[in-house]
Amino acid sequence: MTSTPQAGNLDAEVVIIGAGAVGLAVAQRLARDGRSVLVVERHEGMARETSSHNSGVVHASIYYPTGSLKHRLCWAGNPRIYEWAEAHAVPVRRTGKIIVALSEGERGGLDEVYQQALANDVRGVERITGARARELEPHIPTIEAIWSPSTGVVDNYALARSYEAEAVAHGALIAYRHEVTSITRVPGGFEVALRDADGVASTLRCAALVNSAGHRAADVAAMLAYPLDGGTHENIEVPVMRQRANAGRYYDIVDPAAARLVTRPVYPLPEHQAGGLGVHLTVDTDGGVHLGPSTEWIAEDDAMDYRHVETPEWRAKFLEGGRRFLPGLRDDQIAPGQVGYRPKIQRPDQGLVDFLVWHDRGYVHLGGIESPGLTSSLPLADEVAAALR
Ligand SMILES: Cc1cc2nc3c(=O)[nH]c(=O)nc-3n(C[C@H](O)[C@H](O)[C@H](O)COP(=O)(O)OP(=O)(O)OC[C@H]3O[C@@H](n4cnc5c(N)ncnc54)[C@H](O)[C@@H]3O)c2cc1C
Repeated sequence: MTSTPQAGNLDAEVVIIGAGAVGLAVAQRLARDGRSVLVVERHEGMARETSSHNSGVVHASIYYPTGSLKHRLCWAGNPRIYEWAEAHAVPVRRTGKIIVALSEGERGGLDEVYQQALANDVRGVERITGARARELEPHIPTIEAIWSPSTGVVDNYALARSYEAEAVAHGALIAYRHEVTSITRVPGGFEVALRDADGVASTLRCAALVNSAGHRAADVAAMLAYPLDGGTHENIEVPVMRQRANAGRYYDIVDPAAARLVTRPVYPLPEHQAGGLGVHLTVDTDGGVHLGPSTEWIAEDDAMDYRHVETPEWRAKFLEGGRRFLPGLRDDQIAPGQVGYRPKIQRPDQGLVDFLVWHDRGYVHLGGIESPGLTSSLPLADEVAAALR
């Protein structure tokens, strides 16, 4: 990095803001293409935010509107995550998952999900009887289910670490403890102002800029004066970029006797309007079992607190939700787990909103990269590479 950039001198061809799983997937892709890449990340290491606070499910692309980016990129990403993980020694398990109807009234909802899964060409998806579902998960009182054999779980942190290693091996540089504070368009690219963790300011110059800043993607777009609620900027149509955070808290099933009762992700019917897929049971690559995530819109000025501050109401809600799956689950078998935050373009009164991949003269915006962003990380990187071609 230089503090006084010379016109025409680039510090890197492409600067990527954010070293989450997606920013690092983009970094390795562009570095492998032979581009000079610099990733700027305000934290002291990678994947400190959403990329390490999620369910780690390798989604099969069941729920998303057919043809949407979420559908296409998740569908393409699913087999690629397994291939990548196996090639890079990232823990991954092809567990499959079941989406269950637990009462007669839920059969109709199951049908809707199944039709969407068929329309989305989900690999191997099947509608199965309660008896067959109970062969797979004998302790869940399932009436009828959808079986998705291509769903699995991956170690989210190890995945991001493998992208980082691959990016660095192909020449990418990563500036941790540096925050992007302002951006100016200059002839031939961008001038990016940084502040390091000790408060020291510097500037760098690049030809292209990838905004993979997760929850701060809109703040970064605002540095370039894009109207966040959509509109026109320098005669260019700009989409809605404003985001809101939606919290997802988890409880862990800490008693091995209860955790052993579940071997794969088990989901109820989705709650898209609430902003998520409904409190479900997930397993991780170490065999841990978790309940969650919840869906809670947080106020626009509330900070994202990664501590799980427990309340009796939430404990009671999770216990009740958990007992729908495991009727014998006891209060002393669960403990507060992690909290993650979904970066959403979706408003509380809206249905599902797609990922935003938008580009304008060397600037690529990745907005609303909530679930299934981890599963879609490699195809998202391809989208960025195509936008910069
Ligand atoms: C509760 C929950 C469950 C989920 N479950 C799944 C799942 O099971 N499967 C799945 O596929 N997906 C899941 N997801 C989605 C997935 O976690 C995200 O899509 C993915 O992690 C997004 O990665 P990212 O790199 O875009 O963002 P992040 O990981 O948030 O990274 C953004 C980075 O940008 C940095 N940054 C921001 N502003 C600046 C700045 N000005 N200067 C420097 N750095 C900056 C931040 O510090 C941060 O490190 C889930 C998400 C949540 C919240």
